[in-house]
Amino acid sequence: MKIRIALIAHDRKKDDMIVLAAEHENLLRGCVLVATGTTGKRLSDEIGLTVERKLSGPFGGDLQIGTELVEGRIDCVIFLRDPMTSQPHEPDINALVRVCDVHNVACATNMATARLLLTQLHSTQHRHSHS
Ligand code: PGA
Repeated sequence: MKIRIALIAHDRKKDDMIVLAAEHENLLRGCVLVATGTTGKRLSDEIGLTVERKLSGPFGGDLQIGTELVEGRIDCVIFLRDPMTSQPHEPDINALVRVCDVHNVACATNMATARLLLTQLHSTQHRHSHS
């Protein structure tokens, strides 16, 4: 079964998301990717990844991803939040992080943790493909 990863980046973190996706392109190509609208568009336009796109975050995209997560369809979340800018959909952001904690789903909210998570997934996947 393919790993299912949700990807969300606030506007000032979208360039970081592209850098991260380029670094882990091989892994991501073998996963099912779900993203909020603009993040997903950039990942598909700039890296060529196949992404299932939800609505943009401010229009409820985080909640759509949260719904998939509580129904067991998301294995981990990369959520590059901007801690320096207030967001109109703050309650939705908190709701998504909360359901990650409720359901014990890994949620990386900055580049350092995202790199650790994706590196770990890569080695796990590698081991499985060779066993
Ligand atoms: P976006 O949504 O990917 O559509 O920009 C993420 C957000 O900004 O919350």
